[in-house]
This record gives sequence, C-alpha cells and structure tokens, in this order.
Amino acid sequence: MSKRDYYEILGVNRDASEEEIKKAYRKLAMKYHPDRNPDNPKAEEHFKEAKEAYETLSDGQKRAAYDQYGHAAFEAGGMGGGNPFGGAGAQGFDFGDIFGDIFGGGRGGRTQAHRGADLRYNLEITLEEAARGAEKQIRIPVMEECETCNGSGAKPGTSATTCQTCAGHGQVRMQQGFFSVQQTCPRCHGSGKQISSPCKDCHGSGRVKKQKTLEIKIPAGIDTGMRLRHSGHGEAGSHGAPHGDLYVEIHIKPHSVFERNGDDLHCEMPISFATAALGGEIEIPTLDGAARIKIPPETQSGKQFRLRGKGIKGMRTHQHGDLHCHVIVETPSNLTDRQKELLREFEEISQSDSARHNPRAKSWMGKVKDFFGQ
Ligand SMILES: [Zn+2]
Ligand SMILES: [Zn+2]
Repeated sequence: MSKRDYYEILGVNRDASEEEIKKAYRKLAMKYHPDRNPDNPKAEEHFKEAKEAYETLSDGQKRAAYDQYGHAAFEAGGMGGGNPFGGAGAQGFDFGDIFGDIFGGGRGGRTQAHRGADLRYNLEITLEEAARGAEKQIRIPVMEECETCNGSGAKPGTSATTCQTCAGHGQVRMQQGFFSVQQTCPRCHGSGKQISSPCKDCHGSGRVKKQKTLEIKIPAGIDTGMRLRHSGHGEAGSHGAPHGDLYVEIHIKPHSVFERNGDDLHCEMPISFATAALGGEIEIPTLDGAARIKIPPETQSGKQFRLRGKGIKGMRTHQHGDLHCHVIVETPSNLTDRQKELLREFEEISQSDSARHNPRAKSWMGKVKDFFGQ
C-alpha cells in the first residue's frame, strides 16, 4: 500500500506554520468525522489519515524526521511501504509527480503554478555501508531554468507577448447553456503569455535538462526500501513554483556471507562432522571482524548460535541486532582409502550399540515401524 504524503493529506505547503497545520487538520477532522458521516465508509479512513498526518507534523521532532526520511522515519522493519512511485527497479531514475492530481488536469483557477515533479533515485549500497553509514555522490538529471532565455522561453532579443485569446488572464469564459464556465485558456495553457519565436535551447518551455551531483549522507542502520528525502532537489517548478523533492531509495546488494532480517544478521556455518561430535572452537566472521564460537560436543546440524549485539545497529531503535549462526554439519567428501577404512570401523562400533550412539535414528526407525503397522 502506498502512503500519501502528510503535507498532501493536510493540503498545506512544506513550510506551513504550526497554526496553518492545526487549522487544516481541524477543517478535515470536522469534514470527515465518522459521527457526521454515518453513510460514508471512506470518511473514517480520511479522518484517520488526517489524524496521523497531524500527529506527526504538529510534533517538531517528528516533523523534522519526516522531512528528512519521509514515511520511512516511522516504519518498523525493512520493507518501508510508503512509496508513491511504484515498484523498485534497477539503479536509476523514476519520475513521478505525486502532486499531479492536485494541480493538474486544468481544475479551474489553479493552473499556473506547477510544483516541480518529485524524483526517485534507486541507490544500491553494500551491507557494510548500510551498517556503518556512508557518504555517496550521485548524479541526478534535473530540469533547470534555461540560461539562454532566462526561463522566459522566448528567443533572446524577442519577448513573450500577451496571449490574445485570454488577454493575459490565463482563463477564458465559455458559454454552456445558461451557464458561463471559466476554463483554462486552450491557447496559452494558463500562462497568459504567447511565445511567437521560441528559444532554441528549451523549445519555449523555459527549462532544460541538466545533470547535478549531489552528496548523499546515508545514516548507519538503514535498510532496503527506506527512502531519504532531499527537500527541493526534485525538478524545478514552473512559473516560480517550488522544486519537487528527491527521494533516494536504498537497495542493499546481496552479501556473500550474511543475510539481513530486520536488524539481525544470519549466516551459515559449516563444521566438520568430527567437530560436531567432539566439540571445538571455530572462528566466524562478523561485521566488526572475526569472533570465536565454542561448539559443544554432540552438536547437531541446524543448531543456531546467537551472538548478541553482533547484528546491525538500527537506524531508529539505536540498538544492535544479533548475529545468528546456523550450523551445518558437512558430510566429508573425496575420501581417501584410509578415511573410508576408519569410517567403516567407526560405523561397525556404532552399530553394536546404536540406541546409544544414534538415538535419533533409533527412534525414527520405531516411528517408521508403527507407520507400517508392524
Ligand atoms: Zn530557453
Ligand atoms: Zn491565453
């Protein structure tokens, strides 16, 4: 489920004051209060959504966290939900204008200022970088004001003229039956201006695509699916409207040794079957270097050893997860004649008192006999 932007829910700007946020929430709460909407099942959803948005944005600390990390700031576990731009792709870019619904579509009156589109950048990092934090440089495409025409869209030496259809208002009145309806001017699309000789570099749009390098600070403990919000680093808005935001979505590459689950790490640990039987000490890798584990005698395959605090320090919990080592008893391979001879001798001795040396096999045989009704 994608989660809507809190500012969008309340219909306020990103720099809205506490008072404005409170006012917007009060209005929505009145409108959608379940008591007032007994016949509208969607009302309660809207009411809850507004409440959640208000609770976050009215708290200075929570609001700061939300501004920096988006919904990921409050999500437990790894696969952060609130992604308004759809599925994760390979490293690269996605454009999506989550505000298109609000400002787009020529809904009367609000056509001129278009907030810039939001940008998503999928950033792949290693598990080590996720655990310790990192600084990365990324190159992002941005629409910037065209330098040739200073954003006017008109060829240098010429200038935009007032649209004749709407006389510069951006809106026209159309007669529909008895009613006169105001609509966006079809000729200038609401800008009120007309460009007779468009700038060659931006084809009259006033904006050009450029590359920008950005420093990304990755906080320690971040997980796949979490997003870092860089306010105002999306595309430029039109007609002086604010830039969109840049969302850097984190994807952790598979690791050769560890698998991550929340803040815990898991690894497989093959041990020889002599070590499993007799016990011993083995060295295992952790993110902070090697550690030693004591294997008790008669350790069975599949047993887990937990190393407390050797997992990843959570970005929000600030607590270390654990490292779980899963023992796999390895059957020896490429045996020499001597090894085979010893194993045969070993097996012979074991068989002479198998209830004692192979208790699991013994009880399993019993179950199999019951199963066949013997
Ligand atoms: Zn231009
Ligand atoms: Zn016009």
